[in-house]
Amino acid sequence: MREKKIALKGLLFSEMQHFVKDIGEPKFRAQQLMDWIYKKNAVDFEEMTNLSKTLREKLNKCATINDLQNKNCSVSKIDGTMKFLFALEDHHTIESVIMFHPDRVSAKRVTACISTQVGCAMGCSFCATGKSGLVRNLTSSEIVNQVATLNHVLAASNEGPINNVVIMGMGEPLANYESTLKAIHIFNMKEGFQVGARHITLSTCGLVPQILRLAKEELQIVLAISLHAPNDTLRNQLIPINRKYPLAQLIDACQQYIHDTGRRITFEYSLMSGVNDTSHDAKELAALLKGLLCHVNLIPINPVEDTNYKRATEVHIAKFKEILEEKGIPVSRREEKGADIEAACGQLRRRQMT
Ligand code: SAH
Ligand code: SF4
Repeated sequence: MREKKIALKGLLFSEMQHFVKDIGEPKFRAQQLMDWIYKKNAVDFEEMTNLSKTLREKLNKCATINDLQNKNCSVSKIDGTMKFLFALEDHHTIESVIMFHPDRVSAKRVTACISTQVGCAMGCSFCATGKSGLVRNLTSSEIVNQVATLNHVLAASNEGPINNVVIMGMGEPLANYESTLKAIHIFNMKEGFQVGARHITLSTCGLVPQILRLAKEELQIVLAISLHAPNDTLRNQLIPINRKYPLAQLIDACQQYIHDTGRRITFEYSLMSGVNDTSHDAKELAALLKGLLCHVNLIPINPVEDTNYKRATEVHIAKFKEILEEKGIPVSRREEKGADIEAACGQLRRRQMT
């Protein structure tokens, strides 16, 4: 039986060195291959002009450098946000998004929002991805390939590379722990995409054991917790995993994370009209987070088909923010991107499936 080809965009430098040794090539080839795949955005071995034709043929037989197929790309007329639907080798589809921000200082911030699973098992009631259940975890190569492919697209128009990664696409990253962590290392490492750890955000619905494990990894990444509710009764309805890891446990885990890493935590709070957006909710949230090194990010919900959730009104959003500020909780409102192309996670894929 033929061995499965090795996906190169998913290898750490040490693994690339092993691979090069295994195929009987000299050591320096490892660095050359790293440059081609992570820095020069190669999607075909034929582009690797400093490798001999024989070596390129050999690589073609035993390795791959591109396992995503671009099935659809929509571009926002409002802010240039680009949303991609990628097909994997087994034809399942995932989404990735590129967002552009004029940076506060000078250099442009280019953000990739990427997926870690096909679907998601968590079943949050407001989320399009959660509606379809989990199909499978992505491999580290499939996670890395999203950023690689986005860099390739950007390079074609003299833009990029990606310098900010948010793991907020489809899937629960901490339910695919090893592959996600490996991908984060590749984003960050000097032979990889060189995205600063502080420019990598991992968003989770709150898997307590994995948060505690992540705390010990000594990473400087941003941890974002999808909170969305200030008490267990409401959070149980919105985010079913809260029944397993209720708020008291989640906040304890956050405290431990802050203690171990010295990093502040971001709490995401999607405002849904009449569900979690009252002044009472804001006060309860402020009490829950009191004394914690954190920041709250308010996000008006993106209504999803087959759900009854509606965006909170501007008046409610402003009031909610004001109460948190009064109580001394750092808070901001997330800039909305790609409103005209349904850039909220899972929506494009669901449309293609139905
Ligand atoms: N599974 C992880 C990461 C992917 S979801 C998590 O839940 O954190 C990324 C973010 O999008 C989460 O904060 C999630 O709550 C939010 N989200 C999902 N559906 C949304 C919607 N329809 N409108 C606004 N935010 C949504
Ligand atoms: Fe999964 Fe996150 Fe969607 Fe919940 S919000 S179903 S955890 S992707």
